Amino acid sequence: MTTLQSYLAGRWQSGAGEGTALVNPTTEEVLAHASSSGLDLGEAVRHGRELGGPALRAMSFAQRAESLRAVAAAVHEQREALIELGVRNAGNTRGDAKFDIDGATATLTAYAGFAAALPDTPFLPDGEGEALGRSPRFQGRHVWVSRRGLGVHINAFNFPAWGMLEKLACSLLAGVPVLEKPGTPTAMMAEAIAHIIIERELLPEGAFQFLAGSAGDLLDHLGPQDNVAFTGSSSTGQLLRRHAAFVERGARLNVEADSLNATVLGPDLQDDTAGFDAFVRDTAREVTQKAGQKCTATRRILVPAERAEEVAEALAEAFGNVKVGDPSERETRMGPLTTAGQLDEVQAGIARLAEAARTVIGGPERTTETGYFVAPTLLLANHSSDAVFHGEEVFAPVASVLPYDGTPGHAAELVARGSGALVSSVFSDDKEFLVTLGHELAPWSGRLYMSGSRVAEYGTGPGLVLPSLVHGGPGRAGGGEELGGLRGLQFSMQRTAIQGFKTFVESGFAADRPD
Ligand code: NAP
Repeated sequence: MTTLQSYLAGRWQSGAGEGTALVNPTTEEVLAHASSSGLDLGEAVRHGRELGGPALRAMSFAQRAESLRAVAAAVHEQREALIELGVRNAGNTRGDAKFDIDGATATLTAYAGFAAALPDTPFLPDGEGEALGRSPRFQGRHVWVSRRGLGVHINAFNFPAWGMLEKLACSLLAGVPVLEKPGTPTAMMAEAIAHIIIERELLPEGAFQFLAGSAGDLLDHLGPQDNVAFTGSSSTGQLLRRHAAFVERGARLNVEADSLNATVLGPDLQDDTAGFDAFVRDTAREVTQKAGQKCTATRRILVPAERAEEVAEALAEAFGNVKVGDPSERETRMGPLTTAGQLDEVQAGIARLAEAARTVIGGPERTTETGYFVAPTLLLANHSSDAVFHGEEVFAPVASVLPYDGTPGHAAELVARGSGALVSSVFSDDKEFLVTLGHELAPWSGRLYMSGSRVAEYGTGPGLVLPSLVHGGPGRAGGGEELGGLRGLQFSMQRTAIQGFKTFVESGFAADRPD
């Protein structure tokens, strides 16, 4: 039996006791255990701040970028072994596991590339200097400097590679050391990546630490220069927001939570158009990829009422074509849910949705005796405004068709009932519809995906998180923001306004500039 290890304060360690069992969700076999019990997390926090921080700040942006490139290359080299772990420990199909691992390495590489635009200074400029008084000698400007704390990254179970390495990329490039804590049920892939980073000595000591198992008292050790980037459920996010680390001691918190992402089919898109095909294809993929355990998965499908039945049938046909089964088999397109707990919650969630809808395909039943399998499930709402469709995230291959009256106003009103989303998408060839609805949806959406026949062939799909665009959403989605190119560094940095003598201010306190 494998016991997962943590890399803290410069050494590999395991917590006391068995801790949490990590299971193969296809066979229900226990693969490993992870425990953080008894580990000295205060020591780890100090180690990161005192060793990792100074070592990273001594590196230029270009040198940190090179480290990110090296991590990407080393992870890519071990791709096959990591895919295998994704299949066994998370029930990922090979395609799902590649999506996670390749998303991670692509994001690292993208951040290494973004650094090419950065100056050879220990800070990032934010705008030009400006005269503040009667004399141009006294000026002010803004700069971004690395915070002196630790970046604690608490991730959800669904993207053990991508979730961890996208946060790491932004933090390390900003000059802030990281402590990575993956979701425990699927931590085997994250642990394997941690071993790659440490054993190849890809980062200075203290810049990278790894915690397998629960967060324990980690937050109790955080102070005003530390950051926590959290990804997970709304309920855990709410719990963290109330923690003294943030409320009393001023640590920073970014929350990426769940989201009832909506897609809207415009009334103009008939079923013989490329835009309609893209709508069906993208929706079926977003609902079933990673067995629907994706924060950006489509949950609510708004369709003009007079076409709701017909479109629901087209979607059901696409759902039905998804081959569900053993994720290690190459032809399988959807594997099981990740844990027994997930299966219980999902079955109860589908049953609640089904009370207010017609089940077009699928349902809450477990589809195999062994393994946490459910079928791709599509429901057609009896009443689109029913709160169950807008308030409950069923984290599974499940979505509901919500009929609307075909106007942007009604579509916007329904989407807003979800209280804020990571992504909203609209499929239409009618420019006026796209513009009117787009303006209404933007304040409720971290990202707005506008598709139609013209871009049907090229669209990346609403669920794909891109390093150059911000990820995060308002309200229920957590109100956080990650990525977005160099914007992603700002969470780990302090924007400081500096005032003083012109040349001092212009140089951003660089000692080698003339005064
Ligand atoms: P979760 O139960 O909220 O757990 C998320 C992380 O928080 C895990 O690492 C968990 O550790 C940790 N955690 C739990 N309680 C904690 C506490 N009291 N203090 C500190 N850390 C704590 O969520 P999940 O089931 O892993 O993930 C599914 C959810 O994540 C879904 O709701 C999904 O929508 C959301 N999600 C959002 C995004 C996004 O970008 N917005 C992306 C992916 C997933 P343990 O695993 O050790 O319990």
